Amino acid sequence: MNTLLNDILHTCRPYTVQGRLANYIPELAKADPDKLGICIVSDDGVHCAGDAQHRFTMQSVVKPLILLQALLDSSIEAVHDLVGVEATGKPFDAFNYSDQALTGAHINPMINTGAIALCTLIRGNTYAEKFDRLLNFTRKIAGNDSMVVDEAVYLSEKATGNKNRALAYMLKAYGMIHDPVDEILECYFRACSILASCEDLAKIAYVLANHGKDPVSGVQLFPAEDARYVNATLMTCGMYDGSGEFALRCGFPAKSGVGGGIMGVIPRRMGLGVYSPALDRKGNSLAGIRVLQQLSNQLDLSVF
Ligand code: GLN
Repeated sequence: MNTLLNDILHTCRPYTVQGRLANYIPELAKADPDKLGICIVSDDGVHCAGDAQHRFTMQSVVKPLILLQALLDSSIEAVHDLVGVEATGKPFDAFNYSDQALTGAHINPMINTGAIALCTLIRGNTYAEKFDRLLNFTRKIAGNDSMVVDEAVYLSEKATGNKNRALAYMLKAYGMIHDPVDEILECYFRACSILASCEDLAKIAYVLANHGKDPVSGVQLFPAEDARYVNATLMTCGMYDGSGEFALRCGFPAKSGVGGGIMGVIPRRMGLGVYSPALDRKGNSLAGIRVLQQLSNQLDLSVF
């Protein structure tokens, strides 16, 4: 397995120069575009290659965790009523709503509006408490107590995140959220700034692949029904408007983030984490997708 992973990284390395670092969050533009890593977790253990231990901010890879926490803290019905599962076919931060269309049915947990709205369903008296709950849950699923927020990235997004503010005010204008926008975004921006490695992502993905059960301890960390809900949204919208292309190339549920990470879930088989910070035009790691495509071909991972 290690030889296979190293070979794939070697073959895909040329793609790392074809993408562009995210710069709308200025701190993300400081990433090293040469970094490339992969980790696979399965019943055969943990296999890593390249920069698999390098830490980067989760960004949108945290959205499945926000969805899971909201499912745990309220009901599937409450989550589905607030944020539907329509694959939007639009960029992650699009203002793609006509006056008639801004209802929960037309947003998705894997795009910004959906994730911002779902922060309100996390239990906690304050948004700081809600965020702490989410961080602890993320640590528990990743099996890594040392996960923390990158304060510089958090402050950078907070200083420049006016598009997310606008999206949140739009949700508020249409009665979908009620709490103060700045407080909700405090939770969302912090969540996006949680630092993780490929290994952390692969471990989270493996629990999702294992339908919520910790593969090591055998403890059910969240209900299988919630894992199915999350995996279905990853399959249909985890790569935003790149989800169709990703299904064709790779064929499994996955979630990307503008930090350059991608988490891949191979139901009942394995969890994957890849990292390369240069992105394609849709905000997905360009080399990361190539790595996953090769891996999918070699290990026959596509469900199609
Ligand atoms: N924090 C980023 C944002 O809200 C996350 C987007 C992403 O990773 N696609 O813009």
